[in-house]
Formats: sequence, structure tokens, C-alpha cells
Amino acid sequence: MVPRSQPDYSIVIPLYNEEAVVAELYRRLQAVMAQLDGTTELVLVDDGSGDRTLERIRALHQADDRVCYLSLARNFGHQIAVTAGLNLARGQAVITMDADLQDPPELILDLAAQWRTGYQVIYARRIQREPDQWLKRAFAYGFYRVLRMLADVEIPTDTGDFCLMDRQVVDVLNAMPERNRYIRGLRAWVGFRQTEVPYKRDRRYAGAVKYTFRKSLALGINGIVSFSTVPLRLSTYIGLVAAAIALLMVCLVIYWRFFEPNSPLTGFATIAIAIFFIGAVQLICIGILGEYIGRIYEETRGRPLYTLSEIAGFEKDMPSKGK
Ligand code: UDP
Ligand code: MG
Repeated sequence: MVPRSQPDYSIVIPLYNEEAVVAELYRRLQAVMAQLDGTTELVLVDDGSGDRTLERIRALHQADDRVCYLSLARNFGHQIAVTAGLNLARGQAVITMDADLQDPPELILDLAAQWRTGYQVIYARRIQREPDQWLKRAFAYGFYRVLRMLADVEIPTDTGDFCLMDRQVVDVLNAMPERNRYIRGLRAWVGFRQTEVPYKRDRRYAGAVKYTFRKSLALGINGIVSFSTVPLRLSTYIGLVAAAIALLMVCLVIYWRFFEPNSPLTGFATIAIAIFFIGAVQLICIGILGEYIGRIYEETRGRPLYTLSEIAGFEKDMPSKGK
């Protein structure tokens, strides 16, 4: 077998119903690729789009042999789409970014410059994300800080999946068997020489946001469950506190029984509140347990992470720089 030739850079981009941005994305990337100090392949991942995204990508591939693409057989979600792209990317350095141009492609030049100085993971850190809705920003702000408190590894706050990773790091990530992939967490977990490049998050170029509130919430829960077992311990703590309160109540009731027989705190309302409180605590704890057990179930099922319906461009040798 002929060894697969390796480009210097791979740019991995997941696209889900992004027909409106493909042309502009390619235009901006072309300019960046012309300035990069090496050969580049574009790995476009169609995440089961229902619009004309795949057709647009195909057309790009026809016109430019630096464009490789794969199409997932249905919508598997952003993290899985990126994972699929990482699995197939061949570059010495692999960049992952969003399709909607919220991550400015020109920043890739800065990421690459850091890589050339020897860093192996260079993540872009949002110093400003004004264009997003304030509610989304507030949630993101709170979430990243909670995650930092809970997680076993230091996951940098306000970083998304926009980053450059060295081949060595990508190989490690690809070898990780876990299927709940919280990439920015895994990226922190692997170690290696890491650094950050600050950037200002732009407005989405066109089209609607694909990360619905539900998807963002799922991603967030996934991040916490994948990188922390603190919530599991939470039920123990809550249980201890509830037991202490109950003990106190016992003492109080005995005291009242003997010294203040007319105390109002022995009626139906108290009992009802206590029952609801304990019921709520138990349900929340079972829910938390369920999150972890669900994770164990998913990991053991052994299904592939994604299914591919189309793939093109990866069989070719790498073209020379520029076009
Ligand atoms: N995306 C995807 N699959 C999905 C949802 C999103 O591949 O199920 C891609 C989307 O096309 C975009 C990136 O993930 O390239 C980020 O999505 P979006 O801009 O909607 O999220 P936000 O920037 O608000 O986090
Ligand atoms: Mg976006």
C-alpha cells in the first residue's frame, strides 16, 4: 500500500444545515490557506444536513482537490461530527472550527504560529462574545465556572472547540474509546504543551443557530458527567444534611411535647412539607445516578460512534500548496 501522504494542516469543520455559509466560509478559508506556511486539506463534515449543504460541499470538492468531505448518515451532533473529522484528518496539525464564521478563520494563522514555536494544543479563548444572546452568554459564563469547580482536570473557561492540535494529540484523542465526547474536556485532559490565543467571537454569518437550548444543555451536562463525580457525592452530602435536620426535629418535638404543648409546629403542613422535601431530594439524587448509569450503558453498548453515508477526497495524494 502506498503510504498516505500527509498535509501540514487539516482544517476540520462540522456543518449542519449551513448551506448559506458554505461559499463565504470557503472564500475566507482560501485566503487563509494561501498564507499558511504549508499544504492544507479541508475536511468538511456534513452532519446529516437536510438542506443543500452536502451538494455545496460536493461542488467544492469537484473544484478544489484540497477539499475532502464526509457525510454522516444522520444528524449525530456537533461533537461526534468533529470526532469523525478528527478520525480522518491527516494533517501534522489539525484545526477544528465552526462553520458559521463565528470563529474567524484568519486566527488560524496565529494558532499555526504558536504551533511552530512548539506548542501542541493551542485553543482560542473568547474574550468577548457579544453577538450571542445575553441569556446564552449568561448560561455559558456560569456553566464554565461551575465546570471548573467540579471537573478533575483544569478545563480552561470560555474556550470552545476552536483550536489547533498537533498530530500526536490527535492520535491520542482518536485512540480514546469513550463515546460521550466532550472534546474541549478531553483536549484538556490529555495534557501536552498547551497555550491559548484570545479572540473576539464574531456574529454568525448567516442561517440560524443550530445549537438549540436543549443541545447546549445536553452538552453541558455531558461535560460535567464526563469530567466529574462530584454530583454523585452530592447525594451523600444532602442525605447527611437531611438526617441532621431530622435529628434536630426529633429533639425539638420531644422538647415541645414536654414543655410547650401548644406549639404550632406539629400539624399537617409540617408533615406535608417534610414529605415533599424528602421526595424531591430523592428524585434529584436518582436523576443524578441515572445520568451516570446511562453513561455506563452507552459506553458498554459498543455501537460505532457514527455511520458514514459518503466520503470523498481522502484517497488522493495531497496537492501542492496554493491553487
Ligand atoms: N453543528 C453540527 N451538528 C449539530 C449542531 C451544530 O455539526 O447538530 C455545527 C454547526 O453547523 C456549526 C457548529 O456546529 O458549524 C456550531 O453550531 P452553532 O453555530 O449553531 O452553535 P453556537 O455557535 O451557537 O455554539
Ligand atoms: Mg455559531
